[in-house]
Amino acid sequence: MAESISDPACIFCKILAGSIPSTRVLETDRAVAFLDAFPLNPGHTLLVPRDHHANLAELPDELAAHCGELLPRLCRAIKAATNAEGANVVVNLGRVAGQTVDHVHYHIIPRSPGDPIHWPWPQGRTTPEEAARLATAIRAELAS
Ligand code: AMP
Ligand code: ZN
Repeated sequence: MAESISDPACIFCKILAGSIPSTRVLETDRAVAFLDAFPLNPGHTLLVPRDHHANLAELPDELAAHCGELLPRLCRAIKAATNAEGANVVVNLGRVAGQTVDHVHYHIIPRSPGDPIHWPWPQGRTTPEEAARLATAIRAELAS
């Protein structure tokens, strides 16, 4: 097996290596899910690939696919175990978006009616011209 990518300064790499304790709920050869130490709701879980990649935009496709494959089963288990009605699955990318740990992770946050979490975030509007301009720019980036 290829050597894993690790950053000795990264708190999640330390958790994955076992030098910082965690409460694990799922482990595969490429990813681990453990309970968030500061949960937004009980059962708030983080799914973390074992290899250190700073954020979702830098995650290799194959590892993203592995994580994506684990999410439905994790959501089912977390929902059932917490009696939650639903969940938010969130990835923060960059400080501006609230990312504080630079090792990519998926939050699975169980949701119940009346809990203290608020969605939706404030929504705006767009014009057809602006949507067309943005879509053209994004398609060009995807093709480059
Ligand atoms: P983010 O703000 O998206 O980077 O999320 C980082 C998450 O890691 C936060 O929800 C923290 O509560 C959580 N966290 C930080 N330190 C630990 C730790 N030692 N064990 C478990 N979760 C942690
Ligand atoms: Zn790391």
